Amino acid sequence: MSDISASEYISRQNELEKEAKELMPWDPNKCTYELGPLRQSVFACRSHNNIGLCYSCSIQCHTKCDIVELFTKRYFTCDCGTDRDNQAPETGFRCRLRENREADVSSLSNKYGQNFQGLFCVCSKEYDPNSDATMVQCVLGTECDEDWYHDYCIGKQMPPLESFDAFICSKCAAKYDYYFKRILSHPLGEKIIAYTLAHEDSTAERGGHTSDTKTSCLKRSASQVDDVAVGEYSIFLKHGYSEKLKELKKSLDDNNDKLFLFLNDLVPFLVEDEPVYEPPEEGGDNEDDLISNILQNAMQREQAVAGISAFNALKVKLNDFLRPFAETGSVVKEEDIKSFFQKPKET
Ligand SMILES: [Zn+2]
Ligand SMILES: [Zn+2]
Ligand SMILES: [Zn+2]
Ligand SMILES: [Zn+2]
Ligand SMILES: [Zn+2]
Repeated sequence: MSDISASEYISRQNELEKEAKELMPWDPNKCTYELGPLRQSVFACRSHNNIGLCYSCSIQCHTKCDIVELFTKRYFTCDCGTDRDNQAPETGFRCRLRENREADVSSLSNKYGQNFQGLFCVCSKEYDPNSDATMVQCVLGTECDEDWYHDYCIGKQMPPLESFDAFICSKCAAKYDYYFKRILSHPLGEKIIAYTLAHEDSTAERGGHTSDTKTSCLKRSASQVDDVAVGEYSIFLKHGYSEKLKELKKSLDDNNDKLFLFLNDLVPFLVEDEPVYEPPEEGGDNEDDLISNILQNAMQREQAVAGISAFNALKVKLNDFLRPFAETGSVVKEEDIKSFFQKPKET
């Protein structure tokens, strides 16, 4: 590659741009704190009290931190720059994006399960990106804080992923056993619940030795409700379960019926799917895209995910480096880019 203009460079980077957007589809410039509790992507910061950060703050504010991606949590408010966030501000701003100088009040409704320490499942292990185990999140989540579970910890007989839409862990199923029994015995029950998976030896699970837990009794639909009553069980919901739960709810004439109140007040999100908050998308072509593209080129995909904060720190520097080229309209040489990346990075 010989010397090229910045615009030529951009056009050569179209493919990479697409990839970069898949990786970081949103413009990370708005903190969600002011929007209050939301179902959103949450990132735990293990460097600062295991607090939870919104997507943008995980990239922009806690740049040097040990961040764990938790995927979506319901009803969560960003902790960045609040009294829960003990990060010492370098810029004078508690949250770089909200630019607050005093700590904001943290949300009282945030719940912090073990995921915020980077631990998942009944086995309380860290996420292993090299494992080929599938992890599923508990859609109910009130007892487990929307924890994620390894397929092998759920049970050897876990049904194939494509055969169900959502999973409810045995902790949450046990807590609301009464309601699930009623749903199971309802005429609509078999359109809502695909399987229940009973744990033969549930004491092993309580002791934390779930890999030894023998699971069996995978039931297609729910005719033998009584069998399910013995021991713990997890639940697999069918595709379209929300619609059917809505129907079931409507069929309950008595609005003081406990099942009605359960569906209406405790788990409305099972009946009416709550969309995940999506930050505004990245704007069209701008200088930033060029920088993202170059960075994307320079970093391995996996590294970009793991080192998203490093990515941002580097981006700020590269921005400074490229500004004179953009301002004078002069060409960016490949050597320039190379020399930038070969410079020892201070952060
Ligand atoms: Zn935030
Ligand atoms: Zn942090
Ligand atoms: Zn922030
Ligand atoms: Zn596990
Ligand atoms: Zn659960």
